[in-house]
Amino acid sequence: MAGNWKMHKTVDEATELVEQLKKALADVEGREILVCPPFTALHAVARAVEGNNIQLGAQNLYPAAEGAYTGEISPRMLVDVRCRYVVLGHSERRQYFKEIDPFINHKLRVALEHGLNPILCVGETLEQRGEGRQKTIVSMQVYRGLQEIDAEAMKNVAIAYEPVWAIGTGQTATPNQANEMHWAIRNNVSGLFGEDVAQETCIMYGGSVKPDNVDDLMAQPDVDGVLVGGASLKAESFARIVKYRS
Ligand code: PEP
Repeated sequence: MAGNWKMHKTVDEATELVEQLKKALADVEGREILVCPPFTALHAVARAVEGNNIQLGAQNLYPAAEGAYTGEISPRMLVDVRCRYVVLGHSERRQYFKEIDPFINHKLRVALEHGLNPILCVGETLEQRGEGRQKTIVSMQVYRGLQEIDAEAMKNVAIAYEPVWAIGTGQTATPNQANEMHWAIRNNVSGLFGEDVAQETCIMYGGSVKPDNVDDLMAQPDVDGVLVGGASLKAESFARIVKYRS
């Protein structure tokens, strides 16, 4: 159950939110909880969640350990602030920063080399869905994003299916639409790494997940988790999402 805070929250605001989450989620067991603050708040949030049931993730990285890459953040720096996860290939990065599959794949391989657990985001646009190409588009993103990864490394990779038309729009995929796509993605993973790995792979849904739709989404057999943007910015709504009723 992951929250992507995007470009929101100063250090003080991030600390306040995570302190509220710690209280609200203290009794949660057996569910993985992840928050992905902006880079500037990672260190403060890392300290706040130490010894807690909340894990820390970053929203991006540059695929080199260090070097002359002005403005970028390396996997080594993320590990240094105790990040365990990293979101890669988010549709906002594909759309606004022109990130393409081979670059995302490079990031994913370098993240794994540094011991980070990548969450690979995939998803079709409204236009592509309108043309009935959603499965072709998403499976291409999965195949290209997972190039040169072996079955062992795949155990540390999660996939987030995030239809672009559902992100930040209030328009959620129906539970059936989500499950159909998750099933197709699991088939893609099975083709690449075998059925055992496919069954173990965490496939998350993202796109306007809210307290009032999470229960139905999580009830789907192939929906293993959620990646939440807007509704993760308030402790009350994210806590309710984490505590979905199955
Ligand atoms: C996201 O940022 O990955 C996302 C799914 O955003 P939202 O929940 O706001 O649609």
